[in-house]
Amino acid sequence: MTNDIPLHDGLFTWPSATPQLIGGRCTDCGSFHFPPQDNCPHCAGLAVERQPLSRRGTLWTWTVQGFVPPVPPYAGAVEGFVPFGVGYVELPEGLCVQGRLTVNDPAQLRIGMTMELTTETLHTDADGAHIVSYAFRPVAA
Ligand SMILES: [Zn+2]
Repeated sequence: MTNDIPLHDGLFTWPSATPQLIGGRCTDCGSFHFPPQDNCPHCAGLAVERQPLSRRGTLWTWTVQGFVPPVPPYAGAVEGFVPFGVGYVELPEGLCVQGRLTVNDPAQLRIGMTMELTTETLHTDADGAHIVSYAFRPVAA
């Protein structure tokens, strides 16, 4: 764990065995957004507080990234690229969050299934540190 670095500070609780995304909640209109920002994207109010979001949600839609994304921003392996799942997960707070999925097999993905937040290594940087981001994994039924 000592050589693991989060992709961006303030995106998810870190370090944590039960990670949560850190969203923004507007105390004026009550809506949530992710990633957090200082003004509310719904009402433009400035009364936004940081709040950990639910770890579980439902898969709203998904696809499999089957080819190397543009470099940059993609910093993962080009040689030996492994396709990865990408999806939107709808959280109980009423927002859809885009993220990587831990599985890339279409037979294991179904719209409406329960997903849970976890973390995974995106790539290793020049200093050998593992760059970690959030991802969603299917919850066994
Ligand atoms: Zn608002």
